[in-house]
Amino acid sequence: MKFICYKEFDDPEEPVHPGIVYRNKVLPLARVLAVAEAIHPTGLTIPENLFEVIGLLSTYAAAIKELDRENKILPLIWQEVGVTLAAPLPRPNRIFGIGRNYTDHAKETGHEVESEPTVFLKASTSVIASGQNIVYPAFADQVDYEGELAVVIGLAGSNILEAEAYRHVAGYTLFNDVTERIMQRRDQAKSLPWFRSKSIDTFGPLGPALITADEIKDPHKLVITTEVNGEEKQKASTGDMVFKIPQIIAYLSRFFALEPGDVIATGTPSGIGPLKPGDTVTVTIPEIGTLSNPVVAALEASEL
Ligand code: MG
Repeated sequence: MKFICYKEFDDPEEPVHPGIVYRNKVLPLARVLAVAEAIHPTGLTIPENLFEVIGLLSTYAAAIKELDRENKILPLIWQEVGVTLAAPLPRPNRIFGIGRNYTDHAKETGHEVESEPTVFLKASTSVIASGQNIVYPAFADQVDYEGELAVVIGLAGSNILEAEAYRHVAGYTLFNDVTERIMQRRDQAKSLPWFRSKSIDTFGPLGPALITADEIKDPHKLVITTEVNGEEKQKASTGDMVFKIPQIIAYLSRFFALEPGDVIATGTPSGIGPLKPGDTVTVTIPEIGTLSNPVVAALEASEL
C-alpha cells in the first residue's frame, strides 16, 4: 500500500488527511476503509492521531489488498480528491539520524566507521513534503544534500531483538538529510552536537509516499540515487549499509522506547555535495518513488 498525507487545498490552515495512491489515483483512506467495512466488517476505524494511523497501516494494507483482489476499490469509490501532497508524516514523532552508515561516505568525510551506530536527533519541524522548497538561509555557507532510505516505526517497543525488528516497521520512505556542512564541522570541532546544522527549517524533505512493509521484501536490496538538476550524484545499494535496519532498531530501542511515528534516517552513501538556490534535488528508490525539492534563497522564499 502506498500511504500518503494530503491537503485538499494548498492552505497552511487546511488539515492533513491520510490517503492511499491506488492505480495513480489519490483516494481518501477514510472512504476506502468505509467501503472495506461495508463489505467485510472487522471494526476498522481511522484514529484522529496520525501516529495511531501509522500503527495500523499493516491492518489497513491487508484489508485493501482484499478489496483489490475482489476488484472493488475503484467501482465503489467514486470521488477523487484535489490534492496538495504533504509529507507522509508531516511532523514525525522523532527523527533519528544514523551518521556514517556507508563506508565510502565515512571515508569521504574523513572518518572511520565506528563500532556502533552514530545516532543524532533531527528536529521534526524540519520536515517538508516532496515538491516543497528547501530554503537556503542567508547565513548558510554550504548546504549539502544527503539522500537516504527512511524507516518508519509502526509498533512500539523497547529492547527489540534483531530477529523481531521488522515487526516494528510500518514501512519505508525517502529522506533528504539536508545539512549545513560548515556549521556541522565547526560544531564537531568544538565537540558540540550536530543538532542545529541538521535541523534548520525545511532541511528535512520526507516522502513522497510511505510504502508499507509488506511491499518491500528486502529493504537491503534497493538502489538509491540522488540527482541534482538531473545529474546523478549518489548511487548505492542499501545493502551497503554498515549497520543494517534490524541492528539499528535493536540498538536504538536499548536506549529509547521506539514509538509509532518515529522515523529512522538510515544514513547516506558517498557522493554528498552542495546545493545552491535554483537547484532541484531528487532522491529516488524505484520501489518507493521520487522525492523532489527545489532550493530557493531565503529572501526569494519570503517574497513568495
Ligand atoms: Mg545523513
